Amino acid sequence: MNLVAENHNDHIESIVRAVLKPVGSPGIYAQTGLFEQVIEGLTVFISRRREPGTEVWKFPPVMSRDQIQNSGYLQSFPHLLGCVSCLDGGESDIRAAVERPDWIGGLEATELVLSPAACYPIYPLVAARGDIPTKGLLFDAASYCFRREATYEIDRLQAFRMREYVYIGMPEPVLNFRTRWISRAAEMATQLGLPHRIAPASDPFFGRAGRIASISQLEQSLKFELLVPLQSETEPTACMSFNYHRDHFGTAWALRTAAGETAHTACVAFGMERLALALFATHGVELKNWPAAVRKSLLL
Ligand code: AMP
Ligand code: ZN
Repeated sequence: MNLVAENHNDHIESIVRAVLKPVGSPGIYAQTGLFEQVIEGLTVFISRRREPGTEVWKFPPVMSRDQIQNSGYLQSFPHLLGCVSCLDGGESDIRAAVERPDWIGGLEATELVLSPAACYPIYPLVAARGDIPTKGLLFDAASYCFRREATYEIDRLQAFRMREYVYIGMPEPVLNFRTRWISRAAEMATQLGLPHRIAPASDPFFGRAGRIASISQLEQSLKFELLVPLQSETEPTACMSFNYHRDHFGTAWALRTAAGETAHTACVAFGMERLALALFATHGVELKNWPAAVRKSLLL
């Protein structure tokens, strides 16, 4: 490791020490008031850019196992999924179970999983309402998310907050939605004083078939990310993503447009912790030293 990289890592570590506290599990941190203040500023900063007519939804950190299954998640990312398990039965069964050293063997999977992304519950919610109007539908979704990542670094958490704007409708306006959010997001990063670039990307699909799916996703330009150097200049961190799902969710949930066609969908996702860390990494941990324009944008 060269000296510059070492210094950079020291810098990141001192930031992490100031705003995050490890609480006994990798990729899980307690967040300080200062960190939360920045997340709140970012929340408002993102809300202010909400398009007219957008319906707002906040979701809990858990969702229906059936819904995640119907969304095709088990084919794509089974390695990232967390399922809620509980002890079942009467008082004596549960008492006996917890007294055994291997009490976790008594856990039963419930009907819930930990939400892996904020937009998943939107599609079944909309499907239950009937056809999608010709002009399409816009949503603002937020939830705490969980992913059982293979490694945990400071910007790769098990639990993190995701904010998303989602569009459901005909293919052309869906793609237009994504295009305008890519340029809006770049402007947002500039306003926040974050060095960034937008690049084509692919999801970490599971297994050998998954590698082919990733290549095809890249070839078809289905995913872009806004990257900010956080841990390293050469491997910048994805702080936002811009995803075109084509008819994947439309088919899974029989989402139909008024013209009778299967709806297409797209989402733009903001990783709240990563954006906050990017701000601390770029501007330091003393808010008073941040550029005035950035503080104003975030109401800090
Ligand atoms: P994705 O669905 O993978 O595109 O994720 C949406 C956004 O959530 C990304 O652009 C990141 O900013 C954020 N994100 C994804 N995975 C993690 C993670 N393990 N830790 C923190 N943020 C994450
Ligand atoms: Zn999404």
